[in-house]
Amino acid sequence: MMEFTPHSSPSNTGWIEVVAGCMFSGKTEELIRRLRRANIARLNVKVFKPKIDIRYSESEIVSHSEQSLPSILVDSPNEILTLSEEAQVVGIDEAQFFSNDLVEVCNKLANQGKRVIVAGLDQDYRGIPFEPMPQLLAIAEYITKTLAICVVCGNPADKTQRKVVSTERVLVGAADSYEARCRKCHYIPE
Ligand code: ZN
Repeated sequence: MMEFTPHSSPSNTGWIEVVAGCMFSGKTEELIRRLRRANIARLNVKVFKPKIDIRYSESEIVSHSEQSLPSILVDSPNEILTLSEEAQVVGIDEAQFFSNDLVEVCNKLANQGKRVIVAGLDQDYRGIPFEPMPQLLAIAEYITKTLAICVVCGNPADKTQRKVVSTERVLVGAADSYEARCRKCHYIPE
C-alpha cells in the first residue's frame, strides 16, 4: 500500500480524502487503516455505509480480508450529515451506492472542519466511471488509487471483471461473480 500524504494534518480546516479502485484492490482495508489511526488519536470517528451493502455485516464495514469496523447503515447521504454533528472524522464506504447528493454532503462536512474519508468503486463492470466517484475525486484534496492484481496476467489491475451475464449496474452480495483484471484482460460481457 502506498503511503498516505497528510502525516501532519492541516489545521483549523476540514478536507476530503478519496480512496478509489476496483474490487479486491484493498479500498476498504485502506479506509479501515486510516479510521483506526484516527481512533487511536482519540478523535471522534463516525463510519457510514449504504443500506444496500449488507453482504458481510449489518453494522460493520468489512474488507475482503475480513478486517472490520463498526459502522452506521444509512439510506441517503443527508442522514450522514445529521448523524455526524459530533464527529471530527467521517468515514464513508461503498460511495458508489450513494446518490450524487453525497458530493454536496462531503463538501458540507469538510466545510464544517471535519476530515472526510470516502472509499468506493471508481468504475463499474464495463469500466465506466461510477457516480458519484468522479465528482468526489474532483473535489477531494487527497486521492489514493488502489490497484488489484490481474488474475489473468498478474499486471496491476484497475478494472472489475463481471463473470456472470447481467446488465444490472450493481449486483449486490455477489463478490464471487467478479474478479480484478488489467486493461488488457478486461472485457465487457454481452
Ligand atoms: Zn491482465
